Amino acid sequence: QFIQTYANHPMYLAPRGPQLHAKSWQAEAALRMFLNNLSEEVAEDPERLVVYGGIGQAARTPQDARKIVELLLTLEEDESLLIQSGKPVGKIRSHAEAPRVLIANSNLVPHWATWEHFNQLRERGLMMYGQMTAGSWIYIGTQGILQGTYETFAACGRIHFNGDLRHKLLVSGGLGGMGGAQPLAATMAGATFLGVDIDPERIRKRLETRYIDKMTYDYREAVRLALAAKDKGEAVSIGLVGDIGDVLEKLLQDGITPDILTDQTSAHDPINGYVPHGMCLPQALALRKSDPEQYRQLSLKSMARHVGFMLELQRRGSRTFDYGNNLREFAKQGGETQAFQIPGFVPEYIRPLFCEGKGPFRWVALSGDPEDIKVTDEALKKLFPQDKHMIHWLQQAAVRVAFQGLPSRICWLGMGDREKAGLLFNQLVREGKVKAPIVIGRDHLDCGSVASPYRETEGMLDGSDAVSDWPLLNLMANTSGGATWVSFHHGGGVGMGYSQHAGMVIVADGTDRADRCIRRVLHNDPAMGIFRHADAGYETAQENSDTFGLSL
Ligand code: NAD
Repeated sequence: QFIQTYANHPMYLAPRGPQLHAKSWQAEAALRMFLNNLSEEVAEDPERLVVYGGIGQAARTPQDARKIVELLLTLEEDESLLIQSGKPVGKIRSHAEAPRVLIANSNLVPHWATWEHFNQLRERGLMMYGQMTAGSWIYIGTQGILQGTYETFAACGRIHFNGDLRHKLLVSGGLGGMGGAQPLAATMAGATFLGVDIDPERIRKRLETRYIDKMTYDYREAVRLALAAKDKGEAVSIGLVGDIGDVLEKLLQDGITPDILTDQTSAHDPINGYVPHGMCLPQALALRKSDPEQYRQLSLKSMARHVGFMLELQRRGSRTFDYGNNLREFAKQGGETQAFQIPGFVPEYIRPLFCEGKGPFRWVALSGDPEDIKVTDEALKKLFPQDKHMIHWLQQAAVRVAFQGLPSRICWLGMGDREKAGLLFNQLVREGKVKAPIVIGRDHLDCGSVASPYRETEGMLDGSDAVSDWPLLNLMANTSGGATWVSFHHGGGVGMGYSQHAGMVIVADGTDRADRCIRRVLHNDPAMGIFRHADAGYETAQENSDTFGLSL
């Protein structure tokens, strides 16, 4: 009956409330988060099992999805389920403090780690693309990237605009699952925002979830609205339907130079993500199927054209940065030799946070009751009364973020604070202050869990950008520490061949066991970020290592 109600639902549904369907809260948490990832309110395309980020999936096929649900429902507390690229392949004997699920997605031996090889395997049903949090069942909708985007825009404002983004115009492409956070992050940071997406449905979804204020098909109207808002210093966001390359070309012709320029189209995937110039969406979808190689060539050329316009706007004064979609590399392959003149956002704005073990900590109320998130928000404010930046964030998020699926919250926390927050949540569950257990997780885009030379590890001080021992150690640390589920993926964010990364999720179910696991995992996980950056020679990470008594 459970399968009938939740897994056979055409758009999937996650159960809510305090009732347990599986044999433990750890298995139940994995079950709910898996179904939540796929549910209509959360996933970009539930019918195709696509959660976000191009073709980032939670399960390989609908049959695999149903089997995963079946197995999680019957999983014992001394068993762990093995998932290979979205397919359940077996159960192993383990123990109560071991992860309930062990996930490996999209991993290929380096020599074969290309989109071409991966796509062949995918077509034969042997693999799926897990992105970062799609295949590791901790995607929480667009909010998941909201604070990171806000921190990035705010840092750009601090560095280049005296901390004031009013009267500043920020332009970007891509308003999909993650890119859709840009309009809200930009307006929260005080800027006027103009975003461009080729797919009107994507912009409509942002309107429905209150991430964007206005939508138009008309370039002239979009520019008029954006410039008027910029003049008045109004933090308004406008979504324009179109090709981002075309829109940048028109801005150049009209002599309009955005103050800040970036991009979040799904450029990491030249075939199943980026839409080439001069093509409407249905044409693009048809060509993807009929002639993927021609599509790829067109895509690379279009990215080169797109980046060429970005470079010209950069010359004219736009603060321009790559926002983690590997656009520069594919533009280079398409013929734009200067693409890497555009800096990446991590070395520009985020690395100092990584040196403090800071990253995108997130949590989800399994009860499904938004009140539970309110309780956690208030408890965190009391726990960290000195952290004004965090309190400001939580206050804004409470008012401006519409939940998608199970209510959740993201809040960047660092070494020390993550452990304290985790123990606090476990206490709230134990004392019945929230109505069901809380799931705690993070993005793979974190301080110590990823090797990605064009993103998280771009331009490391010691040149160790491509060393992927670190995410493997992170996976092993979180497995030995007793996270509730762990994952290791390839190709997230920037595409096949360009990244390897690890995920972890831990459940606060109010038990002493959870306290023990939280103490280990939420200590070790951010510590990996400090180890990684201290080892690469970052002084603040070395100082933090001493402050927190890490055995470096
Ligand atoms: P998505 O697939 O949900 O959305 C991508 C959007 O780009 C779609 O709406 C698509 O219509 C649009 N698009 C494609 N080609 C276009 C074109 N030529 N002009 C205008 N719009 C176009 O992907 P997402 O989850 O939003 O992720 C976007 C990118 O950002 C991906 O490459 C992803 O890997 C990367 N990413 C970055 C971060 C980060 O922290 N910076 C985090 C997650 C993902």
